[in-house]
Amino acid sequence: MVTGSDRGAPADSHSAVSDAVTLHVRCYPETGGLQTLTGWPSAHREAVTGVSDAMRTLASEIETRTSFDRVYWRVEPMTPVDLSTGPGLEDGTDHTDTEDVDPVTAMTDRFYRHLEHRETLTGTGCHLLLAWRPFDSNLGYGTTPSAYRRVGRRAGDAVTVANIGATEMWDTRAVTVNIAIHEVLHTFLSPAAARTVVGVGCDHSLGTVRELEDGVREVSPMATAYAGAGTEGTDNDTRFSGTGCGHHADFYRHDGVEGVHTWEHTTKMSEGTLEAASQYVEDTFGE
Ligand SMILES: [Zn+2]
Repeated sequence: MVTGSDRGAPADSHSAVSDAVTLHVRCYPETGGLQTLTGWPSAHREAVTGVSDAMRTLASEIETRTSFDRVYWRVEPMTPVDLSTGPGLEDGTDHTDTEDVDPVTAMTDRFYRHLEHRETLTGTGCHLLLAWRPFDSNLGYGTTPSAYRRVGRRAGDAVTVANIGATEMWDTRAVTVNIAIHEVLHTFLSPAAARTVVGVGCDHSLGTVRELEDGVREVSPMATAYAGAGTEGTDNDTRFSGTGCGHHADFYRHDGVEGVHTWEHTTKMSEGTLEAASQYVEDTFGE
């Protein structure tokens, strides 16, 4: 399990000071995906490793691109959550049985209440739920709910969900890892930051779809599930298409989908993503 920081982040460094900041991500498996009591299944482990590698890279890039003296990162595997029990189901405030709140919002609200109850909120962290809901078409591959969308000293804690049960069922391990990175990156991006890089306020447009050779495309994390947006099956990089924004003409780079027979996924973040995330972190955590 990859965790912690190779930069020796002090224990309380999540509270940013003017010249240092920590990218802090806590990862919680949903109990439905845990098939063993002796450790996390490989899908969960590899998702967390992917997020760790991404945060290490992002921290280094932000340090280079901004006025911060130091940028630390920390990715922590946390005790699993069972959203079928616990706070939110006991206190009478759960919304799942009311018609005006959609089930995904109800689920993310309940996850947030679990975090409050467990006292794992930090005020500036990203909390990633590794959901195991392969047949949940409402959730799809994941979501970053608008109510808790971004990390920040002013924004508070962010909550995000990667449905790795769905990516494992319908796609590949590479998609699992990229979706975990993708959902975490949403919490370090804003429409304003995206707009300065690609001209539109859509995080997905920061991604890249590169032609490696005839018929072969390589998809970066933010473009994952959006490489052939609006299509499914062989015309897209994943079995199902993402349903958020993402016009190919706006992408940081998109080499088209015509004649593609092979989709590959890279955990390497695009230059556009690195630049927009750097701007967001500087705007949010800087002076
Ligand atoms: Zn997305």
